Amino acid sequence: MTRKTLIAANWKMNKTIKETVSFINDFKNLIKKIKNVEIVICPPFTSLNESSKLLKSSNIRLGAQNIHYENKGAFTGEISPVMIKELAEYVVLGHSERRQYFNETNQLINKKIKAALKNKLKVILCIGETLQQRESNKTTDIIENQIKNCLKDINEMKNIAIAYEPIWAIGTGKTASPEQAEETHKFIRQLLKKLYNENISNNARIIYGGSVNEKNAKALLKMKNIDGALVGGASLEPETFSKICNV
Ligand code: PEP
Repeated sequence: MTRKTLIAANWKMNKTIKETVSFINDFKNLIKKIKNVEIVICPPFTSLNESSKLLKSSNIRLGAQNIHYENKGAFTGEISPVMIKELAEYVVLGHSERRQYFNETNQLINKKIKAALKNKLKVILCIGETLQQRESNKTTDIIENQIKNCLKDINEMKNIAIAYEPIWAIGTGKTASPEQAEETHKFIRQLLKKLYNENISNNARIIYGGSVNEKNAKALLKMKNIDGALVGGASLEPETFSKICNV
């Protein structure tokens, strides 16, 4: 079983086109020698076109931060998977900020995952519990419910990576300890074995997100069931993000 490490940058609503170009030009040089890690950058929609041109012959993949589940139609302000497919290879779905500020439910995320896969986009599916849920020992129930509903009627995981992102660790500077993260990743892998089979479970990439930085990345990535990282704040500076990709 070989799971290639996946390190993805979620820029959220940050960087103009000009700032994106400057980042990519610097970053490309810093990670030239990295071979064993799949690096994905997910800039805002407005930067995708320019990024796709700049990344064409590089070892850096491009991702979007959201899609609509329909391919086209009267959905003002939305972007479809067909449109993203022209520019990017990945899409982040189910991020806690989308759940919290845009009322995205597991059911809606399930529709978006199906639309993404139909259009041959790879998915980074975010899941995770709140601090209150963790403190009341509901972490595994929440995770199980999110996975079962987000992956309902989806019968393979080949193009889906799961990002475990405890909400209390996102943008807060509070990282889950490697042991805490590993415990949940292990639970997720066992759940995938129950829902699918051993092979799918062993090959599924489960990455960690939540205040990952150049100092804590190494210890997290060393854990057996942690196959990479989804990085927010620390992915905005080329030097810092390259150090995380280099661990
Ligand atoms: C994220 O946005 O997915 C994230 C993990 O953010 P941060 O690294 O800033 O906590």
